[in-house]
Amino acid sequence: MSNENAIIRGRRDLTAWLAAQPTNLYADDEALQALVRYHGLLAREESLHATGRIVAGPLDAVVRENNLHRNLPVLDDWDPVGTYTGQVAHHPSWRTAGKLIYGTGVMAAYGEIPASHRYVMSLFYLTSQVGEGGHNCPLACDAGAIRSLTALGTPSQKERFLTRLLDPDFDTNFTASQFLTEVQGGSDVGANAAVAAPLDGAESAKPGGRWRIDGEKWFCSNADADLFLLTARIAAPQTGTRGLGLFLVPRRKADGSPNGFRLRRLKDKIGTRSMASGEIDFVGAEAEALGPAEQGFKNVMRWVINTSRVYNAFSTAAGARRAWVIASTYAQHREAFGRPIGAFTQVKETLAWMRADASACLASSMWLAELQEKMDVGSASDDEQAFFRVAVNINKLRTAMLAHETINRGIEVLGGNGAIESFSILPRLLRDNVVSENWEGTHNVLRAQVMRDAMRLGVHRGFFAVLEARLASEHADALGRDRRAFDELASSPEAIRDVRIRPLVDRLATWVMIGAMTPISALTDHLALSLRHLQAPTLDQRYVELLERLQRV
Ligand SMILES: Cc1cc2nc3c(=O)[nH]c(=O)nc-3n(C[C@H](O)[C@H](O)[C@H](O)COP(=O)(O)OP(=O)(O)OC[C@H]3O[C@@H](n4cnc5c(N)ncnc54)[C@H](O)[C@@H]3O)c2cc1C
Repeated sequence: MSNENAIIRGRRDLTAWLAAQPTNLYADDEALQALVRYHGLLAREESLHATGRIVAGPLDAVVRENNLHRNLPVLDDWDPVGTYTGQVAHHPSWRTAGKLIYGTGVMAAYGEIPASHRYVMSLFYLTSQVGEGGHNCPLACDAGAIRSLTALGTPSQKERFLTRLLDPDFDTNFTASQFLTEVQGGSDVGANAAVAAPLDGAESAKPGGRWRIDGEKWFCSNADADLFLLTARIAAPQTGTRGLGLFLVPRRKADGSPNGFRLRRLKDKIGTRSMASGEIDFVGAEAEALGPAEQGFKNVMRWVINTSRVYNAFSTAAGARRAWVIASTYAQHREAFGRPIGAFTQVKETLAWMRADASACLASSMWLAELQEKMDVGSASDDEQAFFRVAVNINKLRTAMLAHETINRGIEVLGGNGAIESFSILPRLLRDNVVSENWEGTHNVLRAQVMRDAMRLGVHRGFFAVLEARLASEHADALGRDRRAFDELASSPEAIRDVRIRPLVDRLATWVMIGAMTPISALTDHLALSLRHLQAPTLDQRYVELLERLQRV
């Protein structure tokens, strides 16, 4: 072959890969479809198909554009005559992305009573396949605001804020943010020093009571939000989570001026770059208590942070799945040594791992969304509530780690092209994932919380009871060993406990994934390959055939 022909052929193969990208990311996703069937969401398929097409087409295009370095958000916070506006300027493609994402009805669906959290999460998982995209972190914050307002809001708060948060039109709706972290500590929320002062004496402590907020918040994502949810200290003690209140701070006062805040600067981040994260100083911001002020920490954990942890898991599952879509199509078209690279067994193995792990992350997260629905309507058993309390933390941790590995594997499949930002979105998916690994609880902090909850509340008993009910027939012995290992942690010296909990939590999170896939026959192969995280498989002909069945056809 002449040099020129070789180049033409190489470029033709890559062009064929681009042309082979699915035009509907729902229709292409056998795992999501199986879960939709299992979770009784078939009546929603039309809208899932529509969203799958939007994500694969126009949304993907505008998110690529809004993530170009030259199009990232910047502060635009003073008007021509020197009045502070608190504005962030975005490229028009960011607004178009917002119109497309909110237009799917992803937040509006929370207006149904009772809301189908699983349906909302299916839409969110689809929109997250473009990466964070400038809006997917805000969606998690919106959901925390919607769920906490629904549960705790006064009629007036619901009327003023909830209606706007449910509006599917990005031109007219409200978005929300959640500010907990301060410069002295994020994991250690009890170190919060921002203060809330009551404006109406004892009346202020009641839901909807008026306060003023002063202090600094160090990480403020969705700095554009119309409504800030934030924690601030209402009373002594000066440290610890007791004494933290949860507040609503509208961005603007009644006269339209910024409500007692200054956006100091925007963060220059590794990922989630088209979404504005800032540092904000609050000076005399007008705030309202969300729920009883003294129950702020309990409420922020239950309604805001737990919601965000489930969102985080779905978004990382989405990144993993998209990485598989990109890599599996690439392997069908890229040739090396005279064959498509997908013909090499080592590539097949990598791709099968990616597909199985992405599905496992999605299945476990969907199980958690199901339990959240049950808890919302009060039909979850004590064991299920305990299971959720443990699983929401270990699933957040494990999905983020598996997604990191999976996206990285996708980059490996693309070879040198995998490392190039202008070639595919894989580098951006990886960078976004690094942020997801951190926010809503770092890995260590989540493990520590699991241990603390087990020792204080014994929630691990309900956790194992639910897992055993799902898995005992097939996996009683292995699960029993992990249960005994967990029980022993409580009586181990602290340092021993800390080194043993890391691998054990990874195993427990894998059990949650296995449990979530067990009832779904369409995911039998995904489940079988996921078991490799618990026990090294026999590398024989059956294993090779399993890999084969998990290839894209
Ligand atoms: C891009 C971005 C956007 C963000 N947006 C927001 C936002 O909108 N709102 C918000 O409130 N926060 C936000 N955050 C903050 C994020 O939630 C925190 O960074 C996170 O909670 C960790 O807190 P930290 O950074 O203070 O780390 P630290 O708490 O200082 O932790 C540092 C290290 O110490 C480890 N560590 C801490 N405590 C323990 C322990 N008990 N045992 C073992 N190890 C421990 C941690 O695991 C970590 O590895 C954002 C962060 C990023 C990167």
